[in-house]
Amino acid sequence: MVGPPGSGKTMLARRLPTIMPALTVDEAIAVTRVHSVAGLLPSHVPLVDRRPFRAPHHSTSVAGLVGGGSSPRPGEVSLAHLGVLFLDEFPEFRLSALEALRQPLEDGEVTISRALTSVTYPARITLVAAMNPCPCGFRGDRERQCTCPGYRLQQYRSRLSGPLLDRIDLRLEVARVPPREHRLAGRGESSAAVRERVEGARRRQRARLGGEVTANAHMTAPQVRRLCRLDTAATALLDRAYDRLHLSARACDRVAKVAQTIADLEAAAGIAAVHVAEALSYRVERGQG
Ligand SMILES: [Zn+2]
Repeated sequence: MVGPPGSGKTMLARRLPTIMPALTVDEAIAVTRVHSVAGLLPSHVPLVDRRPFRAPHHSTSVAGLVGGGSSPRPGEVSLAHLGVLFLDEFPEFRLSALEALRQPLEDGEVTISRALTSVTYPARITLVAAMNPCPCGFRGDRERQCTCPGYRLQQYRSRLSGPLLDRIDLRLEVARVPPREHRLAGRGESSAAVRERVEGARRRQRARLGGEVTANAHMTAPQVRRLCRLDTAATALLDRAYDRLHLSARACDRVAKVAQTIADLEAAAGIAAVHVAEALSYRVERGQG
């Protein structure tokens, strides 16, 4: 999410777990286990039954983020397993910490190697990363002037590597919300109603995926080829995007998965060009394509 201070990025991220499907018993046990290993399970809580929401500060060490220590403990990516990991001020995180996110984002788990041992912790997360449009925060703002020199802007954006950005499926720009509109914000659709649609989409996914994986996001490349039903126009659009936008093969797979999810949310029978177009719109940055 790219947006200036006051755009409600944190508020949006915090609301995300409330529209995600409730944890199954197996999932609750998996979450509980990680929290227990980390010594973070209060004695009066037998089972963590809510999706975790973790929001570590950008000064967090690599070990703090992905796990580590002499007897390796789970990091924030594992404490957020099956929930949301929110990284505010994303480009301000240590480069080594940002790059260490690539494995868990790809594999849904993280392996910490030591001389004599290696430990693998689960890390199937929904990553929400937020950043300002520029270091001062006001680039593109209608009321305030950005004061960042060009080289600072370049420096700021270049902290996020291509391979890391490649693993982020939905990129949104959010504008500053005037306080008056914040007060009116409660009138939209309720989280419970949105969650119902999400659960409907998940049911359709499970039926299609036949127990191989539980959600579109977890499909492997061969599963994407086999299980995503793109019609002719959708396939042509994705091929064209691959050529014109220089998408990697991984990015194309990710676009197909997002398009499949959009189709599932609409209860559509297959993936049409309109679903691919929407999925692409979340990936392409402003001024590109
Ligand atoms: Zn600026």
